[in-house]
Amino acid sequence: MGDLMNEREDLTLTEVSRLAMAAQSVPRHPGPSSDGISERMSSARRRDTKPEIALRRELHARGLRYRVAYPVPGQRRRTIDIAFTRAKVAVMVDGCFWHGCPEHGTRPRSNSEWWRTKLAANAARDADTNRVLQALGWLVIRVWEHQPAESAADLVEAALQDRRAATCGGIKSAAVIPEVRPLRACQG
Ligand SMILES: [Zn+2]
Repeated sequence: MGDLMNEREDLTLTEVSRLAMAAQSVPRHPGPSSDGISERMSSARRRDTKPEIALRRELHARGLRYRVAYPVPGQRRRTIDIAFTRAKVAVMVDGCFWHGCPEHGTRPRSNSEWWRTKLAANAARDADTNRVLQALGWLVIRVWEHQPAESAADLVEAALQDRRAATCGGIKSAAVIPEVRPLRACQG
């Protein structure tokens, strides 16, 4: 499942910081265009999208309990779509357009330079969010909005099982018991 997680992690650090700087300096969009996408411009990560609700339902039906729009620690404006706080598993449902899905991630033709910068900034922010969460011991799972809820839920469920199986000697997490640092190796 490694290929589904953090596939944007292969951006080099330099590239990420360059893009992060670009993210700060994305100018306002020049205005709605003929691409018919103006309604999608409001926010890159919207809450309660249909695919996200479908996945939540599926997880709930499997008896899993989670938090919705859980804040990323230390990041005022970022949230985890579906968070398993005890297992520290973060699930993000990425929109195909905003997050550049290889199958459906189109690049609008008008204002193309602005969009290129904007979408690159989104990718850089995703990578940065991954890094922040991973540094705090979270496992980040990103699924595309086009992915059927059932297969996405399979991934999440498997990850949760892995995490639980990886608790060494019944001790849940090195993050909870800081003096047991070496256990981090067991967290998968
Ligand atoms: Zn897609």
